Amino acid sequence: MRFQSFASGSSGNCIYAGSDTTHLLLDVGISRKRTVQSLNNIGLELRDIDGIFLTHEHSDHIQGLPMIAKQSDMPIYATRGTIAAIRQMPKFREIDPERFIPVRADEKVRVKDLTINPMTISHDAAEPVGYRILYGRKKACICTDLGCYNDYTVECLKDSDVVLLEANHDVNMLQVGPYPYPLKQRILGKFGHLSNLTSGELLSRILNGHMRGILLGHLSKENNLPELAYETVRVELMSREKEIGWHVDELPIGVASRKEASPMFEY
Ligand SMILES: [Zn+2]
Ligand SMILES: [Zn+2]
Repeated sequence: MRFQSFASGSSGNCIYAGSDTTHLLLDVGISRKRTVQSLNNIGLELRDIDGIFLTHEHSDHIQGLPMIAKQSDMPIYATRGTIAAIRQMPKFREIDPERFIPVRADEKVRVKDLTINPMTISHDAAEPVGYRILYGRKKACICTDLGCYNDYTVECLKDSDVVLLEANHDVNMLQVGPYPYPLKQRILGKFGHLSNLTSGELLSRILNGHMRGILLGHLSKENNLPELAYETVRVELMSREKEIGWHVDELPIGVASRKEASPMFEY
């Protein structure tokens, strides 16, 4: 399996996951041009993509969709709630409704040799999901845009080989930062975004011996810094080193960038 983040953050999200024969995009929140360029960099074209899976209707996850849909004919998978929300927005009306294929949390979808299993997440969108992508016994997960997690989330994410997990903000930076109060409350709320600290906590519960890559993603531009996200998660995991049975400095933790592709994980 191969997994790469093309872009991750509040300004745009697009992730590639694939096998030798199957190629998927998860969210298309960057321009068509940038999406195509990122695909070209890994030897693929838009026409090689077998399907797009959308997590939810917020613009940082779908803004590239109208142009990408226009120049290709792959199916677009999303929950019924997400599809309905997207189809209400004027600039998405041109997309042929037949191209949308509804998915439901915990119901597996097969695309050639990959299996995709959506998972419920807690976020202020119509019917948001994260995704587990399975290839044989290999598993990659994307889990961003969630205000909180529970045992179900842990259950969904455990046994992953690669995980892209949200580390959206540093709570102190957010609190003293420039955002208006209601927006701060939204981000901090149950349907908002995971802080660096909560992300570290969740991570400590899903670590396993075959984890090949941990990408902290969906970082806020205003309320976080890559080094801070990394350090906060590291310190949090360090405090649990005995419990998790890992030397934290041996963990393959990286930060997914807003602007550049992450390394390609092949496993
Ligand atoms: Zn988002
Ligand atoms: Zn969102």
